Amino acid sequence: MPRAPWEVVVVGAGPAGLLAALAAAQEGAAVLVLERGKEPGGKLPYAGGGRGNLSHTGEVPELLRHYHGGRRAGEAARFLRPALYAFSNRDLAAFFAARGLPLVAEADGRLFPKTGRARDALVVLLTELDRLGVALRLEARVQELRRARGVFRIQGEGGLRAEGRAVVLATGGRARNPEPDGYRLAAGFGHRLVPPRPALVPVRVEPAAFAPFRACAGVSLPSTRVLLVRGGRTLAQKEGAVLFTHVGLSGPAILDLSREVDPGDVLRVALAPGLRTSVEAERRLLERARGKRQLATVLRGLGLPRGLARALLAAVGLGLEQRAAELPREARRGLAESLALGHPFPVAALGDWAEAMATRGGIALEEVDPKTMGSRLVPGLFFAGEILDFDGESGGYNLQAAFSTGYLAGRSAARFVREQRRHGARLG
Ligand SMILES: Cc1cc2nc3c(=O)[nH]c(=O)nc-3n(C[C@H](O)[C@H](O)[C@H](O)COP(=O)(O)OP(=O)(O)OC[C@H]3O[C@@H](n4cnc5c(N)ncnc54)[C@H](O)[C@@H]3O)c2cc1C
Repeated sequence: MPRAPWEVVVVGAGPAGLLAALAAAQEGAAVLVLERGKEPGGKLPYAGGGRGNLSHTGEVPELLRHYHGGRRAGEAARFLRPALYAFSNRDLAAFFAARGLPLVAEADGRLFPKTGRARDALVVLLTELDRLGVALRLEARVQELRRARGVFRIQGEGGLRAEGRAVVLATGGRARNPEPDGYRLAAGFGHRLVPPRPALVPVRVEPAAFAPFRACAGVSLPSTRVLLVRGGRTLAQKEGAVLFTHVGLSGPAILDLSREVDPGDVLRVALAPGLRTSVEAERRLLERARGKRQLATVLRGLGLPRGLARALLAAVGLGLEQRAAELPREARRGLAESLALGHPFPVAALGDWAEAMATRGGIALEEVDPKTMGSRLVPGLFFAGEILDFDGESGGYNLQAAFSTGYLAGRSAARFVREQRRHGARLG
């Protein structure tokens, strides 16, 4: 390893760090990547259940609607805009396609490698880095970062030492990362940390309210409506799939809402989403209540999976044998609400960090220049990926943002070094 400073040192070899290294090397910089783990890739190999939901189809303005974070509504989108234009979902797809790994879109717009393996995307990235001459050091955990006379001095575990003229911090967030060194390293330079909390995380429901639904673990409603209610007010709503777990709710609609959910909130899940209003649901219940027909049969006729129909009856205190025609009016109203407006699931807790797929919070956006991903406090310091205070919805948005911010940070870091050199040459 050369003694002279590297031009760009990237800390973290997740998707953001790998793209940063790639973009910096494409600009002609000498690049070193330091990775704490035994393997590069960060969370990329696990993404999308190993299938790698790398991005989403759509124009950039559409993609931008799926990000949250920052101090006020719309700040994350404004922040990510230049990065997504610098390296868009189209650029990403073209990059992989040109290297023999086409991406294919599913009906809902999610983009996956055609081979169905996230690992193949990682192999393409590593091959490209190799070709560009990027140095990658594994089991190299960075623990200290200082800047003096225009050079960053890096130290870490096992006697790790390196120097760089620019540094990209791409150490990820708190999700599946018990020791988020990057937050501490950035805070050491005076950067503000917005307290992290789990995002894209399943929700645990109050055990008593959930008891009848425990047997539904594994049942999913492919497309339904969920309302997030606090103190009787609807705070947010989402359409999408809901999955019942052993202790609560998951699936894209729940995961997307989870960044807003607090214990004590109520999630109302429409169990028969085809019915738009409780009045319509009540009418349908009445229409189908013929002769000795059991309510469970009527519910199944309205599209509820068998297990869910049984669970719902138990939850509202009705027996399995209950005949639909003999249902008291009040009970029918309650049932109609659960079907159309949403059955209430009181939230006991959010899932923990080991279950979270993303982080809400991170390095405050206002101290980072969106046009370069450069620190506004420290020249030569850049940020990329989940370490920053933005989080995307499920559907490939988080990886796209990691790739895009990584690309912009790496390119900017290389240009920063080049500018400095030019400036130095002029002065010298
Ligand atoms: C199970 C799971 C599935 C997911 N599926 C999807 C999906 O399908 N689509 C999607 O868009 N998003 C998905 N995500 C989210 C996505 O994986 C992340 O948004 C993305 O990986 C963030 O990239 P990153 O490079 O910023 O961080 P990471 O992927 O976390 O990479 C950070 C890297 O930095 C290294 N590092 C940390 N500290 C140090 C240090 N001190 N020194 C050196 N190296 C360090 C880490 O070891 C790691 O390799 C998923 C997340 C999880 C957990």
